[in-house]
Amino acid sequence: VQRVARPCPFCSGNEHETPPAIDLYPDENWDVRVVPNKYPAVLPFETAHTAAAFANGTPQLFKTVDGTGCHELIIESREHAVSLTDLSSQVLDYVFQAYRDRMLAIKAAGWAYAQIFKNVGAAAGSSIEHSHSQLIGLPMIPVRMREEIQHARSYWDKYRRSLFQDCVEQELADGKRIVMESADFVALCPFASRFPFETWILPKEPAARVETSSNALLSELAHFTQCLIARLERLFARPAYNYLIHSAPFDGSADHCFQWHLELLPRLTKAAGFEWGTGYYINPVSPEQAAYHLRSISVNATRNAQKV
Ligand SMILES: [Zn+2]
Ligand SMILES: [Zn+2]
Repeated sequence: VQRVARPCPFCSGNEHETPPAIDLYPDENWDVRVVPNKYPAVLPFETAHTAAAFANGTPQLFKTVDGTGCHELIIESREHAVSLTDLSSQVLDYVFQAYRDRMLAIKAAGWAYAQIFKNVGAAAGSSIEHSHSQLIGLPMIPVRMREEIQHARSYWDKYRRSLFQDCVEQELADGKRIVMESADFVALCPFASRFPFETWILPKEPAARVETSSNALLSELAHFTQCLIARLERLFARPAYNYLIHSAPFDGSADHCFQWHLELLPRLTKAAGFEWGTGYYINPVSPEQAAYHLRSISVNATRNAQKV
């Protein structure tokens, strides 16, 4: 009987459909495979771009920068898994170790910043169903990160305290926006959530950069993240979502005030005219309601599990 290959470039047996692996976990007989993106958003060659600020005495408006960087994919299962919640805890550990290891490699290669992100479902911009994450290394600190760092830095300058640590402390004391808590992590729906069921995972101990995490901490984070996604999937029958990890720039310039964190952004509503026009977000679900629903799912699941 001839085996009919599944038309998926990320399944084992179809390795030839992606560029050669950069990294394999745990070995050649891989569970997690890191490859360069075949269709990269950025390319790793630097061509100095020096556009004249003025030409013939008039300001030069149409400035450009080259799309320089590196773009990698982390394929999270050798079988055709479609959700992070389908992965075993061992494979999940490899995924989060790969996040850390690739961050270290991108740092060593001299890039300024690396963005880890995951797109799940067509509404979240994913074209391939097979569970995967992406990393893009960039030569500059991107605009969203610069804004977050600016807020953290001015808070530090004013109070000599960490904005993120104070936020975690006050949210834990209050409790109504807390979704989950473990020994080292907290998941909460932010006070000014942009999207329904937006949830952030923050470490309880100060750490500016995710790539300094130990295997033990990454394992806890992996399990914690999987539990959070499982709740979201039980509530909404596998919705589209993005998650991303914000980690301080590699040069250490924000290490004193920044805290790495994971932002989970479910795609339950669409940004529309008002959002594009104003930069404000209409969010029909309060973060307190969202946290309440995500917490309740957990309680029921635990109760059901105990009954069986
Ligand atoms: Zn597949
Ligand atoms: Zn952030």
